[in-house]
Amino acid sequence: MSENTQSGIIFNILRFAIFDGPGIRTTVFLKGCPLRCWWCHNPESHKIIPEKVEGCNLRRGFDQTFSMKNDEIGKEFSVDELMMEILKDKIFYEESGGGVTFSGGEPLMQPDFLIECLKECKNQNIHTVVDTSGYSSLDIIQKVAEHTDMFLYDLKLMNDEDHQKFTGVSNQDILRNFTEIDQVGKKIIIRIPIVPEITDSRENIFAIRGFISYLNNLFEVNLLPYHRAGEGKYIKYGLENKMNSTQSPDSEYLDTIKQFFSELKSRVKIGG
Ligand code: SF4
Repeated sequence: MSENTQSGIIFNILRFAIFDGPGIRTTVFLKGCPLRCWWCHNPESHKIIPEKVEGCNLRRGFDQTFSMKNDEIGKEFSVDELMMEILKDKIFYEESGGGVTFSGGEPLMQPDFLIECLKECKNQNIHTVVDTSGYSSLDIIQKVAEHTDMFLYDLKLMNDEDHQKFTGVSNQDILRNFTEIDQVGKKIIIRIPIVPEITDSRENIFAIRGFISYLNNLFEVNLLPYHRAGEGKYIKYGLENKMNSTQSPDSEYLDTIKQFFSELKSRVKIGG
């Protein structure tokens, strides 16, 4: 491995992940996100710095070899330290057509660290995916696209006012970056969160399908139904949960949306 001085803050590493791209993967969760989606079930990922939270046991996804204390969220890793963890499962990537997925939070918030990790993976012939909201400068998305094999890319709301209201940021850069990575020929798995009364309107679903129908490199569409799994974290951290009593979407309606996207002739899955 090269000597690398970059380091990043990671809040989770999930081994044997099967929903974050092709094959068996290790998913590395980078801390920090500039968005504040109402339905986010990882609010502990939002701040880019490591945090101490009383009585927190969110390290469960971490491999037990990491010495995180129970009340810490986020730990600094050098590129080399992270690569040592990633390489432990290389045989599984090779046998399953898998690799490593960099997720978050928003991995583009730590671009230098991310790019160095992507380069190291490439040196080791490990397939990479970047799971992103797409919210970054053009310069960063172009540099990252140069070094990754694939993107998992969220499309949430096509109406910019709604996007600002429900995520805290405009969708203009996100849509521009999306077009950019398609133009440079990167494979894209699109992830659409299906959140009742926010993203699931016919108008939004039609607008998303229209937008992606021109893609050259669409690999798959994933519909991600809202679930209430993150609710306890909002209580634990004393954060406002704006979703109140919102329930998971109706399965019949999900099937209708799936059918609608299937007309694009790409694979459509409910779930990641
Ligand atoms: S982009 Fe993802 S991590 Fe960031 S706030 Fe939205 S759901 Fe949460």
